[in-house]
Amino acid sequence: MTVEQREATIKSRQSRCDICVLIGDMTPVMLCQDHDKATGQNRGMLCSRHNLGLGHFNHSPNELLAAVEYMKQYCQLQLVSAGGR
Ligand SMILES: [Zn+2]
Repeated sequence: MTVEQREATIKSRQSRCDICVLIGDMTPVMLCQDHDKATGQNRGMLCSRHNLGLGHFNHSPNELLAAVEYMKQYCQLQLVSAGGR
C-alpha cells in the first residue's frame, strides 16, 4: 500500500478504527494498518489500543475467543453475586 493509498483509506474511513466501529465507538482516532504477520497481507485499519490488543493475543482468534469466554464467565459471576445481595 502506498502512502497515498493509505491516506485515502484513512480519509474514507473518517479515521475510525474497524473494531471501535463494531462496538459503536465512532470517535475518530489515529489509525494503524493491521496486517497478517505470517503473510504480510494487509487487513483493516485499527487504533493503537486495538492493534496492540490483538498483538497481546498473538493475533489468534482462538485466544481472543477464549478470553471472551473467560470474561463472560466472570461477568456472569458478578451478576449472580450482585443479585444475591
Ligand atoms: Zn479501536
